[in-house]
Amino acid sequence: MIHTATWKDVKNGLITDVYFERTKKILKAKGIDVSVRAEFMAHVFPLNWPWAVLAGVEECVEVLKDLPVDVRMMKEGTLFATKQPVMEISGRYLDFGQYETTLLGLICQASGIATMAARCKKAAGKKEVISFGARRVHPTIVPLIERNAYIGGCDGVSVGLGAKLIEKEPVGTMPHALILIMGDTVKATKAFDEVIEPKVRRVSLIDTFNDEKIEALNVARELGDKLYAVRLDTPQSRRGDFLEIMKEVRWELDLRGYREIKLFLSGGIDEKDIESYNLVADAYGVGTAISHAPVVDFSMDIIEIDGHPVAKRGKMSGSKRVFRCKECFKTKVSSAKERPERCSCGGVEEEILVPFTSKGHLLQALPKASQIRDYVLEQLNKVEL
Ligand SMILES: [Zn+2]
Repeated sequence: MIHTATWKDVKNGLITDVYFERTKKILKAKGIDVSVRAEFMAHVFPLNWPWAVLAGVEECVEVLKDLPVDVRMMKEGTLFATKQPVMEISGRYLDFGQYETTLLGLICQASGIATMAARCKKAAGKKEVISFGARRVHPTIVPLIERNAYIGGCDGVSVGLGAKLIEKEPVGTMPHALILIMGDTVKATKAFDEVIEPKVRRVSLIDTFNDEKIEALNVARELGDKLYAVRLDTPQSRRGDFLEIMKEVRWELDLRGYREIKLFLSGGIDEKDIESYNLVADAYGVGTAISHAPVVDFSMDIIEIDGHPVAKRGKMSGSKRVFRCKECFKTKVSSAKERPERCSCGGVEEEILVPFTSKGHLLQALPKASQIRDYVLEQLNKVEL
């Protein structure tokens, strides 16, 4: 038996905490049928992140577009801060209340992954970050992991089905298995070069049997210009000073004229490692840090009932608007009555919580994954890690 729900189950509202089903039953029994406005907001971020990337929007829309409700949302890929509503749903509570669990699940996990990918990419700057974390999560959600890693800023993903979803080719190097079975790194690298189509970049894994700098020179001598990079996946027990190992490899390659051969790092890499190694390393394979990123803890809260502002303790009632200055990126949350103004920097404010669906109609075109990623990268220029 497969231990995952089908999309049909999700659409039918079956992925819901039972207390929402009971609430619905009670409200129906008592003849209470109210219109509410509910907002989705994160009050704190994991690991003290100063910002997060909103993701999971496309799947939320897939659930919401068939419900008789009005939805305002931030566009997928928008960088947001705590206490900024990212989504607001208006409609009969009985029509959407039971989807709270599902909608939260869709944005909490996706946003966590996209945010960690964005943090890694921000740390790496122009250097490449590839999502290698498929093996750390349930296989049925790998395309989701890969998509959100990519829209958050990863340059590529390793699993074909995930790559298909973002309309890219999968990216990979070579596993230790190939080298162990062939018994020799140079032999394995040569075989890769002979068999695999030329458009695939040649990246030789150099930590299997020998010292990295010796093996780097061995494969460089054999493949020369055809070698795109050497990958160091050095086990933790052998790392010592990993930065020094990399510097040595770089030095030895440069000294012999192999300046074009890049250093590709993998093996438990996170955004802090990227910051530390980025002067020497050229590309990173990031696994667990992205695929198992902490989730963004959004909550859904009712903020208005039959047109009257109301909220639980600790939350602000009433519908809100979110304005962002196009110039300085300053963002403010206002009551629904406020209008966009000139920012103190002189820039123009734009509303970023925008109408998305209305009673079964989609009001925004859903961008391609590559467009969402471009939007994220553009915003990353305006923030600090
Ligand atoms: Zn401004």
